[in-house]
Amino acid sequence: MSIDARSSGDAAISISKVSKWFGQHQVLKDISTEVRHGEAVVIIGPSGSGKSTLLRCVNFLEEFQQGEITIGNEAMGYRLDASGRRVRRSETEIAAMRAQVGMVFQSFNLFPHMSVLKNVALGPVRALSVPRREAEERAAALLDRVGLASKAGAMPRLLSGGQQQRVAIARALAMQPKAILFDEVTSALDPELVGEVLDVMRQLVQDGMTMIIVTHEMAFAKAFAHRVVFMADGEIVEQGPPEQIFDDPRSPRLQAFLKRFK
Ligand code: ADP
Ligand code: MG
Repeated sequence: MSIDARSSGDAAISISKVSKWFGQHQVLKDISTEVRHGEAVVIIGPSGSGKSTLLRCVNFLEEFQQGEITIGNEAMGYRLDASGRRVRRSETEIAAMRAQVGMVFQSFNLFPHMSVLKNVALGPVRALSVPRREAEERAAALLDRVGLASKAGAMPRLLSGGQQQRVAIARALAMQPKAILFDEVTSALDPELVGEVLDVMRQLVQDGMTMIIVTHEMAFAKAFAHRVVFMADGEIVEQGPPEQIFDDPRSPRLQAFLKRFK
């Protein structure tokens, strides 16, 4: 996707005034931001600030009590009934919307008893009714894209953590999602394996994939994010282009947070 496509048209993901409580504890406080088509947005912030919860709300792995999240132009999770009340969508509708947004976690969660190729092909076969052979051909191409063509027949446990995480990214791509959410996907890896995963993500940014990336890899954010969102204590405290966030942070909380990475 070209830069022009990125800067025009409707938002791919729109998060509008989202608030969420776990019991009495408000963990998301009136969060609003938009992700445009082809945009890579990086979310940074201290542990416990609500980053994972926000991603999980986008994919409706968590319910939220207020606000709206739209994927394309459809509201995720809820619809308004005839009297304007917010009601939960059917599980079928939620599953169909969820399939449009890939998610990659810190733990790779590959199926241990299936080859790498079958791990990548499974989703399209099961959820999109793609014929197995076609799904496996596409899976092979995706493994090539993440640099793992030679591992297609291997079982996941024989791969390094970095390789397993690249398989998890290929598996997300196999669903042909409109966007992919990444939650600290390099945090569990040995330091020498982080780079190969970041390289795949950099390639996706350059290919124009719409992404929301939660990470502590500040150098990656600085170099490849189109926009950086800083969250603290359930709020978006500051957001802007990486140059502004990293070189000219305005809020004391962001300034203090960034000092830890110096
Ligand atoms: P982050 O990803 O930024 O570290 P989280 O979204 O995981 O933050 O957590 C935000 C807050 O929500 C934290 O205070 C956390 O303890 C709380 N929290 C997260 N998940 C749950 C849950 N399932 N039940 C209750 N509280 C939760
Ligand atoms: Mg988290």
